[in-house]
Parts: sequence; C-alpha cells; structure tokens
Amino acid sequence: MDRQMIRDTAGRVLRSDDLAKNEKEAVAEFLRENPTLGNPHMVRCDWCHETTMLFRDEDKGTFTRTPRGWRCTTCNDHAASQEVRF
Ligand SMILES: [Zn+2]
Repeated sequence: MDRQMIRDTAGRVLRSDDLAKNEKEAVAEFLRENPTLGNPHMVRCDWCHETTMLFRDEDKGTFTRTPRGWRCTTCNDHAASQEVRF
C-alpha cells in the first residue's frame, strides 16, 4: 500500500465506482495504522478547473499548501478541497 494506491482508490470512491469491499477496508486500515498521513483530499480550482488528489503535506502541480487548504498558483486563488473518508 502506498500513497498512489490510496489516491487511486479515493478517486474511485468519489466517482462511486464499484470497489471490492476489501479494497476500501484495506485503505481504511492502512490509514488507521498511519494516522499522521491523514485522509487524501480532492483539490479543485474553481477558476481553471485543475483537479488533483493530495495529502495534507503535499504540494503538487499548481497547488501549494496554505494553513487552511491549498492555493492555485496559476489563478492565485484559494482552491476548494474535499476530504475523502474511508
Ligand atoms: Zn486555478
């Protein structure tokens, strides 16, 4: 289990794709065992529609962390984020 697997599973949870029951449970268990990792967030800029799945300690692409979430550096505006819970 690694971050990318969690990101992939989280994306499928958000899209309501069919998941094997044990897939979701495996992620939930891994996150419980690694509480510092936290749940992934779907981060989206309402202006340029850039969308990325990020953990709370990650900057990626156009998104940089702020104390309250992320900022889109392309648009210089706060990005919306949705926590994905397992
Ligand atoms: Zn943007």
